[in-house]
Formats: sequence, structure tokens, C-alpha cells
Amino acid sequence: MIDIIECGRLKQKPEKADSFGKVFTDYMYVREYADGKWGNGVIRPFDAIELLPCSSVLHYGQAAFEGLKAYRDGRGTVRLFRARDNFARMRTSCDRLCIPPVDADEALDALTALVDLERDWIPVERGTSLYIRPFVFASDESLGVHAAHNYKFIIILSPSGAYYSHGFAPVALKVEREYVRASKGGTGAYKVVGNYAASIKAGELAVRDGYDQVLWLDGGERKYVEEVGSMNIFFVLDGKVVTPALNGTILPGITRDSCIKLLKAKGIPVEERRVDIAEVLDGAKSGALTEIFGTGTAAVISPVDRLGDGGVDYTIGVRGKAGAIAGMLFDTLTGIQTGVIPDEFGWVVKVGK
Ligand SMILES: *Cc1c(COP(=O)(O)O)cnc(C)c1O
Repeated sequence: MIDIIECGRLKQKPEKADSFGKVFTDYMYVREYADGKWGNGVIRPFDAIELLPCSSVLHYGQAAFEGLKAYRDGRGTVRLFRARDNFARMRTSCDRLCIPPVDADEALDALTALVDLERDWIPVERGTSLYIRPFVFASDESLGVHAAHNYKFIIILSPSGAYYSHGFAPVALKVEREYVRASKGGTGAYKVVGNYAASIKAGELAVRDGYDQVLWLDGGERKYVEEVGSMNIFFVLDGKVVTPALNGTILPGITRDSCIKLLKAKGIPVEERRVDIAEVLDGAKSGALTEIFGTGTAAVISPVDRLGDGGVDYTIGVRGKAGAIAGMLFDTLTGIQTGVIPDEFGWVVKVGK
């Protein structure tokens, strides 16, 4: 049982959710860790959380997060996609940062209760969803540099508009040669807040140069492709689907894993291996590289139609269009997420009713 503290006054729901992550629902879930254990969580009105200026997360960034979505169909059925995998991944992130992990089943129960309570907030139009942000952070009131003794685990919900309201909007990537996102032994494979802080500068420079996001190379040799800002990356090279193997510095995306499983189920070979950036650029020059796409919860599939390196740009596939494999994966994944295509993998968790 999760206690619910009632909202005094409910918010006005927006007609249309379009700006990502700015509108939040009436309630949030909060659970605190103290005296060596996680306490009972409560669902309470979405509101400010009070922190002293000496709260440890503000100084040392001991914090991890997740991102997933709930979808509501025309009949009112609400579906979560692979939510248990998100909470399992959050446990690995917590472990890397010495945060006491939250039990995945308890987190899923809390999320289900919260989403069920807020189901009317979930938009139903095609492509829309409820974005879910679970996060956990250190809340010791002390500047000591060590694993904190107090934490908060919170889940907030934000209705999210259609990512592609006018068809696919392919993105342009810049091969990042100066900055690195992660290196061996670091935190690249975990969804922790510091990774994002460290990546913003390269992202800003890419935007200044006319690109949307950076394509990261490995931190050691600066030779092998890793991933994009908040997406994993796939290539269709010589007719084969190729993606960088998880090597300890790449975030193990749930969308990435879903794509690999779907491709295999459809009999389309997919290779997880090291991908040399030279091979990608050669393919772009020769035409052997026919598709690039990113995978991640936010856009699901994000086709890439331009790749830039050192000021030289290559068009990938047809400008402004998604390739055949990207399009198929998008349709299949969003079909499963919204209940239009049967879920043969057991990925969907229905909420309530
Ligand atoms: C969250 C994230 C992804 C995508 O993971 P999904 O589980 O597919 O949403 C990829 N790269 C990074 C760095 C991320 O933080």
C-alpha cells in the first residue's frame, strides 16, 4: 500500500502537450532513505522539495535517473513499455555511485500506482505519451566527500506531445573529435547525471556549427563510434545493420535492445561490434552506408540524414526522409507500445483497469 496525500487543488490540464518536460502532473512519488533503509513511499502533490545549500547532491552529483513512457489508447488502456528494465538499470546506476538501490518491483508498484492515479493526464493523440522521470539523489546535509547516508527517490510525470507531428524530422550529427563522453572504468554505461553535465559543451558547439547532436567516439583511441547525446546509434552498412557493442562506456539503451531483438525476430541480421569511424565515413563516401539512426525513449527512432566531420558533410540516404529499416523499427516499436501490434516479447505492462 502506498499512501496518497490528496492535492488541495488540481491543475488545469493543457489542451495540447508540446514543449518537452515543462508541464508536470498533479502528483509525484517520493521515497526517502535514512538510517540505513528505504522508508515507505508516498504519493503527494507535485511541489518544491526543500534542500539545504549543503545538500550533497548539489556539490558532488551523486544522482542517477531513468526515462520511460506510458501510452494511453482510445479505449483508455494505459501501457508502460519495459518499465521493469528501467528500474533494473537504475539499480546498476545506483550501484556504480554507491547509492543504495531501490527494489525494482517496489519501484514498479509505485510507478503503476502513480500513473494509474494520473491516467487522465496521459494524452491519447497519435505519437503522444506520458514521459516518466524516476530519479534518485544524495541528500546529506554535509560537505563531506563520501557516499551519502540520506537519499530521495522521486518519480515525476510530464505529458509529452508527438515527437514527429509532421512526419520524421531527421537530425544532423557532428563527429566529435575533441571532447569525449566516457572512458573505460568511468560512468558512461550508467544513467548518472554527471555524464550529461560533461556532454553539454560539445553539444552546444555542435549546434553552433549547424548540427543537432554529437556522435561520440571512444575516450581511449578516439576511433570507435560510441553513441549520440541521449541515443544509441545504428548504421546500415553494405545492407547489414550494425551497432557498437556494449563495451562498458556505452549506455545500454532499452530501445537499442528492443531494436536488436525486433530485427533478429524479423530475420534481419544485426551485428554488435566495434564500429570504426573510418569505416562509417568510407561508407558515407562510397554510398555503402545507406542509413544511420539513433534509438532512445524520447524519439524512439531518430533518423540521421547528415553526418559532418571536420567541416565536411555527407548526406545519408535521402534528405528529410527516414530509411526503410528506421521506418520499420519505428512503426513496429510504437505499434507495440500503443497496443496496435501484438506484444510477442512481453514488453508491455498494463496499468489498472
Ligand atoms: C537514456 C540514454 C540512452 C537511451 O536509452 P533508452 O533506454 O533507449 O531510452 C542512450 N544514451 C544515453 C547516454 C542515455 O542516457
